[in-house]
Amino acid sequence: MKNKVFKPQKWYLRTALALAGVVASSTSALAANFNFSYQPGTTHEQIEAFELAGQIWSSYLTEPGEINIHVAMTDILPLGGATPALVANQNYTSFRDSDDVEIFDDIHDGFNLLLQNGTIISTNNLMIATANAKSLMGVNWDGSGRYGGLDGFIQMNKNASWHYDYTTNVSSNKFDFVTVALHEIGHTLGFISGVERSYQNDNDNTVYKASSLDLFRYSQESADLDAIDFRVGSNAYFSLDEGNTNLGNFAEGVNIFLGGDGFQAPHWKVSLDNPLGIMDPLLGWGTRRYISTLDLQAFDAIGWDINYSPELDMDTLLENAAIEANEAVIADKSEQVEAMIEDSEVYKQDGWCDPIVDPNCGWWQSGDAEDVISVPEPSAIMGLLGLLGISVFLKGRSKNVATNSNNV
Ligand SMILES: [Zn+2]
Repeated sequence: MKNKVFKPQKWYLRTALALAGVVASSTSALAANFNFSYQPGTTHEQIEAFELAGQIWSSYLTEPGEINIHVAMTDILPLGGATPALVANQNYTSFRDSDDVEIFDDIHDGFNLLLQNGTIISTNNLMIATANAKSLMGVNWDGSGRYGGLDGFIQMNKNASWHYDYTTNVSSNKFDFVTVALHEIGHTLGFISGVERSYQNDNDNTVYKASSLDLFRYSQESADLDAIDFRVGSNAYFSLDEGNTNLGNFAEGVNIFLGGDGFQAPHWKVSLDNPLGIMDPLLGWGTRRYISTLDLQAFDAIGWDINYSPELDMDTLLENAAIEANEAVIADKSEQVEAMIEDSEVYKQDGWCDPIVDPNCGWWQSGDAEDVISVPEPSAIMGLLGLLGISVFLKGRSKNVATNSNNV
């Protein structure tokens, strides 16, 4: 029986190669391309800001591919929310063997989860966002004809007080729209987690759904047990060497009775003063957030090809965003969104309440800190936020929803 093989040097080598490759690839213009569509009622200002967020992400993602995201302005979320399309039952080995992924333990055909009740289970079942799946060479996934063609659905709060202009400072009584768009796109690209639905199902091994990002979620305790940390309230951190090195703490989960910090697991540990990156769960008034190296390391880890230091020429990006906005697809895609939810095979399963039937079963952060409000959630694993959003979204689609962009 073989022992585990640790190859910590490979990661660094790969990063160095990626950095060295920047110059060489700069002329080839390889980049992920975002195809946004917009629900009728989205204003041109909102569309342009969203297109800019896509342009910014494309500058970092050197993986060629088409990412399709539908965007709608709705009235149920604090600031924004993402519902990524998912492939629910991917084989861990396929993910591990992808050319785009560097997993240190490349011997085992599964991995261990340290659960809320202290037990450890082995699994080879992985949940991957479809956009993430597109970035992976080795994942056996045929996306054609599924998911209504969508990789995600993003909702922005139409009633929030937004600042749209990325070239000016954010007004002190406004939230930066592009920051929130960048954040929600990040969830759609695969910054998701299965941690928070796990404790509800401690007696049912079939429902654990670790995400590709969860494979890099450790605590000291879980590392000692050779497992990723799948618990709420465990001080879990992002690690690329099986828990030996803490590169940045994750949020600890919404359930404060289990020791969670009130923020959904697929975020960095909240820090208003020194946010770890765009995937921080809180955004203050009058502030702008940026994609950090730590953010990029996480996306790199789950399989994206990353340019860590692109030249962000704002004039060009704004110009491109304006062109894209003028050609934007504005269409009612509520049926495709519904198909995406169904096909993802996670959102309505495993005994969770149905938010369409029970309006109290959804949950999201309510913006309780002073002067701040949450940037939620990939409704991702809970799905509940997304589903509740969907239901309101679907009911409201026939109405011609007013979108006065700066109303309070
Ligand atoms: Zn979030």
